[in-house]
Amino acid sequence: MHTVACSILHAGALVLQQQFEKRYPHYCHTCNGWGTLPELYDPSPDGIGLSPGFLVMHEPCHACEGSEHIPTCSLCGQILASDGTRLCTCPLNLGYPETPPCECWEHML
Ligand SMILES: [Zn+2]
Ligand SMILES: [Zn+2]
Ligand SMILES: [Zn+2]
Repeated sequence: MHTVACSILHAGALVLQQQFEKRYPHYCHTCNGWGTLPELYDPSPDGIGLSPGFLVMHEPCHACEGSEHIPTCSLCGQILASDGTRLCTCPLNLGYPETPPCECWEHML
């Protein structure tokens, strides 16, 4: 069973996810509509004075906006203009709402 707090959190996320899927049925499933994929990398030690540790880079998703052949909108799937601009009015920085972390399920097994 989920705790009450967790249930409320997940119910809210589920509503957002359902709304998202309804609005963007053709969203990119590779990047979940975000258009970019997070990529961890360790900057080289003799770099340009970056703080040590891993950095998260956001690489263009090759299945949609970063495609070399036919770049498409990560949300609606519409083909982008030849200069890479969107022809649709989908908001940037929007993607499939993430499910909040939950450890309740461990108790259900
Ligand atoms: Zn994508
Ligand atoms: Zn779009
Ligand atoms: Zn839970």
